[in-house]
Amino acid sequence: MIDEKQNKYHKTKMERKKSQIETSMAKATDEKGLLLVITGNGKGKSTSAFGMVARALGHGMKVGVCQFIKSRTDTGEEAFFSAQPNCEWHVLGDGFTWDTQDRTQDIQTSKKGWAVAQKMLTDASYDLVVLDELTYLLSYQYLEKEHVLTTLKNRPTMQHAVITGRSALAELKEIADTVSEIKEEKHAYKSGIKAQIGVDF
Ligand code: ATP
Ligand code: MG
Repeated sequence: MIDEKQNKYHKTKMERKKSQIETSMAKATDEKGLLLVITGNGKGKSTSAFGMVARALGHGMKVGVCQFIKSRTDTGEEAFFSAQPNCEWHVLGDGFTWDTQDRTQDIQTSKKGWAVAQKMLTDASYDLVVLDELTYLLSYQYLEKEHVLTTLKNRPTMQHAVITGRSALAELKEIADTVSEIKEEKHAYKSGIKAQIGVDF
């Protein structure tokens, strides 16, 4: 008896939900290349971007990935994705800013890396461009903000771009279509567990 009541309630609720979803889906009819920003202090920014890389490749789309800041080339994502025919993967960093400790060198490296990204952002043959950890190049003022924002805004109409990294600038979030802030609730690292293969790199 209780089950029957519960089932009826569930059905009414789902009917209402279906109509709400259909109404909002009917309103979302536009199509365009999206700019996404995945920021915040929690884990899951870069891996979210790589999830979109997998999706896009699965649809036969062409993908370009630029990894700034970091210099390691032994990650699982690079091994996997750079072996895919439609995926171009560039590791463009020198290492963490606290390792290089050299702003002039960081700026030079950033500019070189940005040139690679800029080529992709002006080439409509790339359906998706991932700029992993780009936020730091803006917050540390390694790149000229206005120039980067203009390049992003002027990219090919149907090209998607994903930017990851902590502390995304307000101006960047403003021009983005989708912004997610990943909040840290817990991180294994803080319990003394080092970066784990397959999960962290
Ligand atoms: P991931 O690449 O796992 O999605 P991320 O891009 O969100 O992580 P980054 O700031 O780029 O995070 O950090 C990269 C590395 O640092 C990863 O190994 C990740 O697990 C680890 N990491 C992420 N967030 C934290 C945190 N809050 N504390 C310590 N280590 C972290
Ligand atoms: Mg990251």
